[in-house]
Amino acid sequence: MYIPHSLIKNGWKRNVKQKKKVMIKLTKSNAKEIKAFIEAQVFKKVTRMSIKSRKKDGGEIAIMCADGAQLVDKIAHRILSTLDRERAIRNTEIIIKRTIEDSQKNNDDEAVVIAKISKAVTEACIKSIKRLSRSVMLHILTANGGPLLIPERSPLNVNNARNFLMNQIREAIQIKGVRNIVLYTHAPCGAAGPVCMDIKEQLQLLFDAENELIIRFPGITVTRYFHVDYSSLPQPGHKSKETYFVSREAWEKLKKGGV
Ligand SMILES: [Zn+2]
Repeated sequence: MYIPHSLIKNGWKRNVKQKKKVMIKLTKSNAKEIKAFIEAQVFKKVTRMSIKSRKKDGGEIAIMCADGAQLVDKIAHRILSTLDRERAIRNTEIIIKRTIEDSQKNNDDEAVVIAKISKAVTEACIKSIKRLSRSVMLHILTANGGPLLIPERSPLNVNNARNFLMNQIREAIQIKGVRNIVLYTHAPCGAAGPVCMDIKEQLQLLFDAENELIIRFPGITVTRYFHVDYSSLPQPGHKSKETYFVSREAWEKLKKGGV
């Protein structure tokens, strides 16, 4: 077999062309914009009142960017938001109390009591997550850029992306009968970054997407969220990943003020 000289010299591995991995990071400018939108209450911490992903609340069609580093966090956010945390804490306290009472009857050592509590709480958590997952109806549509593909004028609307996504939404509404749509956009976004889209432009496209969906599918409700990964640029007072509800009311107010 003929082996090119360059391969012998440099080795096989170094001759295999590898695409450079592009790290998408939150910029200082992004963080500054996000801070301003939090202060203007365009970004708000999510309340359980805005969650409709439970089956009994009609379920949701969630349109999200496919970004593998963030998608699972957004889905977890959607599911865990349906959890009644206070009730879950009360149930855990009852489990601990019962386990201690049983252990007292058996005269268990302290180490055995701790092990039994740990086992009981872990099993209860697993059951609770399973129950929660079964109670949720989340029809997820993902694509690079997510809802930013929807507006006709979006720079991400290339190769028929908008039409494809709109058809997927129409089918989901018809098949599942779900009338609640949630839109998740995020920063840093690998689709928005290369077209130099700042946070304000992402938000404008998010609202444009909502407007176009309401016109195309009368009778639906649309809720907007913005996921931020602060891990590359930690911000005081914020978790490494946060999800904000996006307020149209505050956005309109801000725009009237000329922002
Ligand atoms: Zn993205």
